[in-house]
Amino acid sequence: MTPLGRLLARRIAATGPIGIADYMAECLLHPAHGYYATRDPLGAAGDFTTAPEISQMFGECLGLCLVQAWMDQGAPSPVVLAELGPGRGTLMADLLRAARVVPAFGTAAGVHLVEASPVLRARQAQALAGHDPVWHDTIATLPEAPLFLIANEFFDALPIRQFQRDAAGWRERQVALDAEGRLAFALSAPTPLAALDHRLGDTAPGDVVELCPAAQPVTAEIGRRIAARGGAALIVDYGGWRSRGDTLQAVRGHAFDDPLAHPGEADLTAHVDFEALARAAAPAAHSALVPQGVLLDRLGIAHRAERLARTLSGGALAAHQAALRRLTHPEEMGRVFQSLALFPAGGPVPPAYA
Ligand code: SAH
Repeated sequence: MTPLGRLLARRIAATGPIGIADYMAECLLHPAHGYYATRDPLGAAGDFTTAPEISQMFGECLGLCLVQAWMDQGAPSPVVLAELGPGRGTLMADLLRAARVVPAFGTAAGVHLVEASPVLRARQAQALAGHDPVWHDTIATLPEAPLFLIANEFFDALPIRQFQRDAAGWRERQVALDAEGRLAFALSAPTPLAALDHRLGDTAPGDVVELCPAAQPVTAEIGRRIAARGGAALIVDYGGWRSRGDTLQAVRGHAFDDPLAHPGEADLTAHVDFEALARAAAPAAHSALVPQGVLLDRLGIAHRAERLARTLSGGALAAHQAALRRLTHPEEMGRVFQSLALFPAGGPVPPAYA
């Protein structure tokens, strides 16, 4: 068992089973043993890779989308340019470089990063040297100004609760101890749950649905700011419209792992329920869900790829072409990853989301 596994087993033995959200939060952000708190998990040497780490084209395309949304809203100044969970800072660096074609945007935008991991904050400081980023623990402390925000693979890292439908209500999925003292899944006694009343119609006994309690206040705050002062949020993650089934997933060393096997040493994620994000963001308006491949296509990634290809040859060219396919192809990241835009009700829909 990992050191965090031993701590959790002792806690469960003393005070009883814990919910999945509690388990995820400890595994990801425990100050001494948490996965994000203690390492940079990204890239070939880490546990997983993400779209901005695959190619600069991802951040460039999303960046130009955000700049266009800013121009469509009359180029307000000053504005907050924020990213949630910026990882190594690659997406923001690519976005800012692409945005240089509209210098007024760079002048108007102050860069704000919401990041929990001290290790990754240090990486972001390196990647964004010269842009004077300001770090935040939560979005609550962002300055009040029009908000232009991006988030790639942030919401999938927020803890979820899981509920299994039962004839008499919902049983919460928990982490308990088995007869040998190992971590094991268990179910609570059935209880009614108002937050899941709307799912009684489209689920049957035995079905699992997920709630992400931490996503609700974050999206509500984004929606409030965009509705009050303008702006746009581009959210990219894997998931769909309305949660269904158990999507808790562990990845360690680029391979799937049992979510209970290595607490604190594997990345834990869950699919994002975009319907819940869109609901929480009201009174801001939301777009339809756009698959990542379609979004990048509409934002002109093929054209950008061709331009970059002109400067490449041999292995670098092959890697570039493989990266384009990986980001956009429906059998790679093009369809499992989806994107939602938030924007002021009645205002222009950000380009490529209409
Ligand atoms: N967006 C980056 C990194 C994705 S990994 C990319 O696409 O490469 C998830 C990121 O969210 C990491 O930076 C992680 O440290 C951060 N994170 C996870 N939970 C968080 C929380 N509760 N608050 C702030 N940041 C969080």
